[in-house]
Amino acid sequence: MICMVAKIIDGKKMAEKILEDAKKKVAALNPKPCLAIILVGENPASLVYTKKKHDACKKVGIESRNIRLPATAGKQEMIGAVKKLNSDKSVDAILVQLPLPSSIDEEEVLSEVAIEKDVDGFHPQNIGKLALGTPGVVPCTPKGVMRMLKESGVKLSGKHAVVIGRSRIVGKPLAMLLLNANATVSVCHSKTKDIGAITRQTDIVCVAVGKPRMLKGDMIKEGAIVIDVGINREGEKLVGDVDFEPVSRKASLITPVPGGVGPMTIAMLIENTIACCKNRRRG
Ligand code: NAP
Repeated sequence: MICMVAKIIDGKKMAEKILEDAKKKVAALNPKPCLAIILVGENPASLVYTKKKHDACKKVGIESRNIRLPATAGKQEMIGAVKKLNSDKSVDAILVQLPLPSSIDEEEVLSEVAIEKDVDGFHPQNIGKLALGTPGVVPCTPKGVMRMLKESGVKLSGKHAVVIGRSRIVGKPLAMLLLNANATVSVCHSKTKDIGAITRQTDIVCVAVGKPRMLKGDMIKEGAIVIDVGINREGEKLVGDVDFEPVSRKASLITPVPGGVGPMTIAMLIENTIACCKNRRRG
Protein backbone atom coordinates (compact mmCIF):
# COMPACT_ATOMS: atom_id res chain seq x y z
CA MET A 1 0.00 0.00 0.00
CA ILE A 2 1.32 3.49 -0.83
CA CYS A 3 1.44 5.70 2.28
CA MET A 4 0.81 9.29 1.26
CA VAL A 5 1.13 12.34 3.41
CA ALA A 6 -1.26 14.93 2.17
CA LYS A 7 -0.22 18.42 1.22
CA ILE A 8 -2.17 20.92 3.31
CA ILE A 9 -4.23 23.52 1.48
CA ASP A 10 -3.53 26.61 3.55
CA GLY A 11 -6.83 28.51 3.49
CA LYS A 12 -5.58 31.12 5.94
CA LYS A 13 -2.66 32.09 3.71
CA MET A 14 -4.82 32.10 0.56
CA ALA A 15 -7.42 34.26 2.30
CA GLU A 16 -4.79 36.76 3.47
CA LYS A 17 -3.63 37.23 -0.11
CA ILE A 18 -7.22 37.73 -1.30
CA LEU A 19 -7.80 40.32 1.44
CA GLU A 20 -4.61 42.17 0.45
CA ASP A 21 -5.87 42.38 -3.15
CA ALA A 22 -9.30 43.42 -1.88
CA LYS A 23 -7.76 46.26 0.13
CA LYS A 24 -6.27 47.69 -3.07
CA LYS A 25 -9.60 47.43 -4.90
CA VAL A 26 -11.44 49.11 -2.02
CA ALA A 27 -8.88 51.93 -1.93
CA ALA A 28 -9.89 52.81 -5.50
CA LEU A 29 -13.59 53.11 -4.56
CA ASN A 30 -15.19 56.27 -3.27
CA PRO A 31 -17.40 56.15 -1.25
CA LYS A 32 -16.21 52.91 0.32
CA PRO A 33 -18.40 49.82 -0.15
CA CYS A 34 -20.86 49.24 2.67
CA LEU A 35 -21.94 45.82 3.98
CA ALA A 36 -24.86 45.56 6.43
CA ILE A 37 -25.05 42.42 8.58
CA ILE A 38 -28.32 41.57 10.30
CA LEU A 39 -27.92 39.42 13.39
CA VAL A 40 -30.93 38.15 15.31
CA GLY A 41 -30.48 37.07 18.93
CA GLU A 42 -27.33 35.97 20.73
CA ASN A 43 -26.37 32.63 19.12
CA PRO A 44 -22.71 32.31 20.31
CA ALA A 45 -21.43 30.86 17.00
CA SER A 46 -23.21 33.61 15.01
CA LEU A 47 -21.70 36.26 17.29
CA VAL A 48 -18.21 34.88 16.54
CA TYR A 49 -18.84 34.62 12.79
CA THR A 50 -20.31 38.12 12.47
CA LYS A 51 -17.40 39.57 14.46
CA LYS A 52 -14.96 37.93 12.02
CA LYS A 53 -16.91 39.39 9.10
CA HIS A 54 -16.89 42.91 10.60
CA ASP A 55 -13.16 42.57 11.39
CA ALA A 56 -12.37 41.55 7.80
CA CYS A 57 -14.34 44.54 6.48
CA LYS A 58 -12.37 46.85 8.75
CA LYS A 59 -9.09 45.29 7.59
CA VAL A 60 -9.76 46.05 3.92
CA GLY A 61 -11.52 49.41 4.41
CA ILE A 62 -15.12 48.32 3.79
CA GLU A 63 -17.73 50.05 5.96
CA SER A 64 -19.71 47.45 7.88
CA ARG A 65 -22.96 48.01 9.75
CA ASN A 66 -24.09 45.82 12.58
CA ILE A 67 -27.90 45.53 12.65
CA ARG A 68 -28.94 43.72 15.84
CA LEU A 69 -32.45 42.42 16.45
CA PRO A 70 -33.63 40.69 19.64
CA ALA A 71 -34.12 36.89 19.66
CA THR A 72 -37.84 37.63 20.05
CA ALA A 73 -37.97 39.48 16.70
CA GLY A 74 -40.71 38.16 14.44
CA LYS A 75 -40.93 37.78 10.67
CA GLN A 76 -42.35 41.27 10.12
CA GLU A 77 -39.57 42.90 12.12
CA MET A 78 -36.96 40.92 10.17
CA ILE A 79 -38.47 41.77 6.81
CA GLY A 80 -38.84 45.41 7.91
CA ALA A 81 -35.09 45.55 8.67
CA VAL A 82 -34.25 44.02 5.27
CA LYS A 83 -36.53 46.42 3.40
CA LYS A 84 -35.03 49.42 5.18
CA LEU A 85 -31.55 48.33 4.03
CA ASN A 86 -32.83 47.60 0.52
CA SER A 87 -33.91 51.22 0.14
CA ASP A 88 -30.83 52.69 1.85
CA LYS A 89 -28.74 53.99 -1.05
CA SER A 90 -25.55 53.96 1.04
CA VAL A 91 -25.76 50.19 1.59
CA ASP A 92 -24.23 48.02 -1.16
CA ALA A 93 -24.60 44.56 0.31
CA ILE A 94 -26.88 42.85 2.85
CA LEU A 95 -26.10 39.69 4.79
CA VAL A 96 -28.66 37.97 6.99
CA GLN A 97 -26.68 35.87 9.46
CA LEU A 98 -28.11 32.33 9.60
CA PRO A 99 -29.57 30.44 11.32
CA LEU A 100 -32.61 32.57 12.15
CA PRO A 101 -34.77 31.63 15.15
CA SER A 102 -36.83 28.54 14.24
CA SER A 103 -40.07 30.56 14.34
CA ILE A 104 -38.94 32.55 11.27
CA ASP A 105 -39.04 31.12 7.75
CA GLU A 106 -35.51 31.79 6.44
CA GLU A 107 -36.62 31.40 2.82
CA GLU A 108 -39.19 34.14 3.19
CA VAL A 109 -36.69 36.59 4.70
CA LEU A 110 -33.88 35.81 2.22
CA SER A 111 -36.30 36.31 -0.69
CA GLU A 112 -36.83 39.89 0.47
CA VAL A 113 -33.16 40.89 0.08
CA ALA A 114 -32.78 43.11 -3.00
CA ILE A 115 -31.15 40.96 -5.66
CA GLU A 116 -28.38 43.48 -6.35
CA LYS A 117 -27.46 43.52 -2.61
CA ASP A 118 -27.68 39.74 -2.08
CA VAL A 119 -24.04 39.31 -1.02
CA ASP A 120 -24.50 35.72 0.21
CA GLY A 121 -26.18 34.56 -3.00
CA PHE A 122 -29.06 32.94 -1.09
CA HIS A 123 -31.86 34.76 -2.92
CA PRO A 124 -33.85 32.19 -4.97
CA GLN A 125 -32.94 34.10 -8.15
CA ASN A 126 -29.19 33.74 -7.46
CA ILE A 127 -29.64 30.07 -6.55
CA GLY A 128 -31.53 29.62 -9.83
CA LYS A 129 -28.65 31.22 -11.73
CA LEU A 130 -26.22 28.88 -10.03
CA ALA A 131 -28.34 25.88 -11.03
CA LEU A 132 -28.43 27.14 -14.61
CA GLY A 133 -24.70 27.86 -14.60
CA THR A 134 -25.21 31.54 -15.49
CA PRO A 135 -23.34 34.40 -13.74
CA GLY A 136 -24.77 35.55 -10.40
CA VAL A 137 -23.64 35.94 -6.81
CA VAL A 138 -22.22 32.62 -5.58
CA PRO A 139 -22.57 31.66 -1.89
CA CYS A 140 -19.33 32.36 -0.01
CA THR A 141 -18.43 28.96 1.47
CA PRO A 142 -18.81 26.88 -1.72
CA LYS A 143 -17.17 29.68 -3.70
CA GLY A 144 -14.24 29.52 -1.26
CA VAL A 145 -13.96 25.75 -1.74
CA MET A 146 -13.86 26.14 -5.52
CA ARG A 147 -11.18 28.83 -5.22
CA MET A 148 -9.07 26.59 -2.98
CA LEU A 149 -9.27 23.76 -5.52
CA LYS A 150 -8.37 26.13 -8.35
CA GLU A 151 -5.44 27.73 -6.50
CA SER A 152 -4.17 24.25 -5.67
CA GLY A 153 -4.10 23.37 -9.36
CA VAL A 154 -6.84 20.73 -9.15
CA LYS A 155 -8.39 19.97 -12.55
CA LEU A 156 -12.06 19.14 -12.02
CA SER A 157 -13.19 18.20 -15.51
CA GLY A 158 -13.98 14.48 -15.68
CA LYS A 159 -13.15 13.90 -12.00
CA HIS A 160 -15.58 12.17 -9.69
CA ALA A 161 -16.44 14.42 -6.73
CA VAL A 162 -18.70 13.65 -3.79
CA VAL A 163 -20.33 16.21 -1.52
CA ILE A 164 -21.51 14.91 1.85
CA GLY A 165 -24.27 17.26 3.04
CA ARG A 166 -27.00 18.93 1.01
CA SER A 167 -27.73 22.15 2.91
CA ARG A 168 -28.82 25.23 1.01
CA ILE A 169 -25.78 27.19 2.17
CA VAL A 170 -23.02 24.66 1.49
CA GLY A 171 -23.78 21.19 0.12
CA LYS A 172 -26.23 21.95 -2.68
CA PRO A 173 -24.48 25.02 -4.10
CA LEU A 174 -21.11 23.25 -3.89
CA ALA A 175 -22.50 20.25 -5.79
CA MET A 176 -23.84 22.62 -8.48
CA LEU A 177 -20.51 24.44 -8.78
CA LEU A 178 -18.61 21.17 -9.15
CA LEU A 179 -21.09 20.03 -11.78
CA ASN A 180 -20.76 23.35 -13.62
CA ALA A 181 -16.99 22.72 -13.61
CA ASN A 182 -17.58 19.40 -15.42
CA ALA A 183 -16.96 17.09 -12.47
CA THR A 184 -19.14 14.01 -12.11
CA VAL A 185 -20.92 14.69 -8.83
CA SER A 186 -22.44 12.45 -6.18
CA VAL A 187 -24.31 13.95 -3.21
CA CYS A 188 -24.68 12.09 0.09
CA HIS A 189 -26.88 13.01 3.06
CA SER A 190 -28.32 11.58 6.25
CA LYS A 191 -30.43 9.03 4.35
CA THR A 192 -27.58 7.76 2.13
CA LYS A 193 -26.75 4.11 2.70
CA ASP A 194 -23.07 3.14 2.99
CA ILE A 195 -21.43 6.51 2.32
CA GLY A 196 -17.99 4.85 2.40
CA ALA A 197 -18.85 2.75 -0.65
CA ILE A 198 -19.30 6.02 -2.57
CA THR A 199 -16.45 8.06 -1.07
CA ARG A 200 -13.92 5.23 -1.65
CA GLN A 201 -14.51 5.62 -5.39
CA THR A 202 -14.18 9.39 -5.62
CA ASP A 203 -11.25 11.64 -6.51
CA ILE A 204 -12.53 14.61 -4.49
CA VAL A 205 -14.40 14.31 -1.19
CA CYS A 206 -16.07 17.42 0.27
CA VAL A 207 -17.64 17.09 3.70
CA ALA A 208 -20.19 19.61 5.05
CA VAL A 209 -22.16 17.75 7.67
CA GLY A 210 -21.43 19.15 11.14
CA LYS A 211 -20.39 15.83 12.72
CA PRO A 212 -16.87 15.74 14.18
CA ARG A 213 -14.49 13.35 12.35
CA MET A 214 -17.26 11.56 10.43
CA LEU A 215 -15.03 10.94 7.39
CA LYS A 216 -12.68 8.15 8.47
CA GLY A 217 -9.39 7.05 6.91
CA ASP A 218 -10.93 3.86 5.50
CA MET A 219 -13.58 5.89 3.66
CA ILE A 220 -11.27 7.44 1.04
CA LYS A 221 -9.07 6.10 -1.72
CA GLU A 222 -5.31 6.68 -1.85
CA GLY A 223 -4.53 10.11 -3.28
CA ALA A 224 -8.01 11.59 -2.84
CA ILE A 225 -8.44 15.35 -2.40
CA VAL A 226 -10.33 16.09 0.82
CA ILE A 227 -12.13 19.34 1.63
CA ASP A 228 -13.40 19.71 5.19
CA VAL A 229 -16.09 22.36 5.56
CA GLY A 230 -17.20 21.27 9.04
CA ILE A 231 -16.61 23.40 12.10
CA ASN A 232 -17.37 21.63 15.35
CA ARG A 233 -16.51 22.83 18.82
CA GLU A 234 -15.02 20.30 21.22
CA GLY A 235 -14.38 22.21 24.44
CA GLU A 236 -11.91 24.93 23.49
CA LYS A 237 -10.90 23.13 20.29
CA LEU A 238 -12.34 23.40 16.79
CA VAL A 239 -12.47 20.18 14.79
CA GLY A 240 -13.71 19.43 11.31
CA ASP A 241 -15.91 16.70 9.86
CA VAL A 242 -12.78 14.81 8.77
CA ASP A 243 -10.72 12.50 10.97
CA PHE A 244 -7.66 14.50 10.02
CA GLU A 245 -4.68 12.28 10.99
CA PRO A 246 -5.68 9.00 9.30
CA VAL A 247 -7.30 10.73 6.33
CA SER A 248 -4.25 12.94 5.71
CA ARG A 249 -2.03 9.82 5.56
CA LYS A 250 -3.99 8.63 2.50
CA ALA A 251 -5.08 11.88 0.82
CA SER A 252 -2.95 13.88 -1.62
CA LEU A 253 -4.42 17.27 -0.64
CA ILE A 254 -6.44 18.20 2.44
CA THR A 255 -7.83 21.31 4.12
CA PRO A 256 -7.23 21.77 7.86
CA VAL A 257 -9.70 22.95 10.50
CA PRO A 258 -9.17 25.64 11.61
CA GLY A 259 -7.31 27.50 8.86
CA GLY A 260 -8.99 25.91 5.84
CA VAL A 261 -12.40 26.72 4.42
CA GLY A 262 -13.34 29.13 7.26
CA PRO A 263 -10.99 32.02 6.33
CA MET A 264 -11.78 31.53 2.63
CA THR A 265 -15.51 31.98 3.36
CA ILE A 266 -14.77 35.40 4.86
CA ALA A 267 -12.47 36.30 1.96
CA MET A 268 -15.22 35.42 -0.54
CA LEU A 269 -17.68 37.58 1.41
CA ILE A 270 -15.31 40.51 0.98
CA GLU A 271 -14.99 39.77 -2.77
CA ASN A 272 -18.77 39.51 -3.12
CA THR A 273 -19.26 42.81 -1.26
CA ILE A 274 -16.89 44.59 -3.63
CA ALA A 275 -18.67 42.99 -6.62
CA CYS A 276 -22.13 44.06 -5.36
CA CYS A 277 -20.79 47.59 -4.84
CA LYS A 278 -19.22 47.82 -8.31
CA ASN A 279 -22.30 46.36 -10.03
CA ARG A 280 -24.62 48.80 -8.27
CA ARG A 281 -22.46 51.79 -9.19
CA ARG A 282 -22.23 50.62 -12.78
CA GLY A 283 -26.00 51.02 -12.73
P1 NAP B 1 -26.73 21.63 7.97
O1 NAP B 1 -27.64 22.65 7.39
O2 NAP B 1 -27.01 21.10 9.33
O3 NAP B 1 -26.67 20.41 6.94
C1 NAP B 1 -25.99 19.25 7.27
C2 NAP B 1 -26.10 18.27 6.13
O4 NAP B 1 -25.41 17.08 6.52
C3 NAP B 1 -27.55 17.86 5.80
O5 NAP B 1 -27.72 17.81 4.41
C4 NAP B 1 -27.67 16.47 6.43
O6 NAP B 1 -28.50 15.58 5.71
C5 NAP B 1 -26.26 15.95 6.32
N1 NAP B 1 -25.97 14.97 7.37
C6 NAP B 1 -26.23 15.04 8.68
N2 NAP B 1 -25.79 13.92 9.31
C7 NAP B 1 -25.26 13.14 8.36
C8 NAP B 1 -24.62 11.88 8.36
N3 NAP B 1 -24.46 11.19 9.50
N4 NAP B 1 -24.20 11.37 7.19
C9 NAP B 1 -24.35 12.08 6.04
N5 NAP B 1 -24.92 13.28 5.97
C10 NAP B 1 -25.36 13.80 7.12
O7 NAP B 1 -25.23 22.14 8.02
P2 NAP B 1 -24.43 23.21 7.11
O8 NAP B 1 -24.94 24.55 7.41
O9 NAP B 1 -24.36 22.73 5.71
O10 NAP B 1 -22.99 23.09 7.78
C11 NAP B 1 -22.26 21.87 7.75
C12 NAP B 1 -20.97 22.06 8.54
O11 NAP B 1 -20.20 23.06 7.90
C13 NAP B 1 -21.15 22.55 9.97
O12 NAP B 1 -20.13 22.02 10.78
C14 NAP B 1 -20.98 24.05 9.87
O13 NAP B 1 -20.55 24.65 11.08
C15 NAP B 1 -19.92 24.12 8.81
N6 NAP B 1 -19.88 25.37 8.05
C16 NAP B 1 -18.66 25.91 7.86
C17 NAP B 1 -18.53 27.06 7.11
C18 NAP B 1 -17.17 27.61 6.90
O14 NAP B 1 -17.02 28.76 6.56
N7 NAP B 1 -16.12 26.79 7.03
C19 NAP B 1 -19.65 27.68 6.58
C20 NAP B 1 -20.90 27.08 6.75
C21 NAP B 1 -21.00 25.91 7.49
P3 NAP B 1 -30.09 15.80 5.54
O15 NAP B 1 -30.24 16.85 4.49
O16 NAP B 1 -30.57 14.47 5.09
O17 NAP B 1 -30.59 16.23 6.89
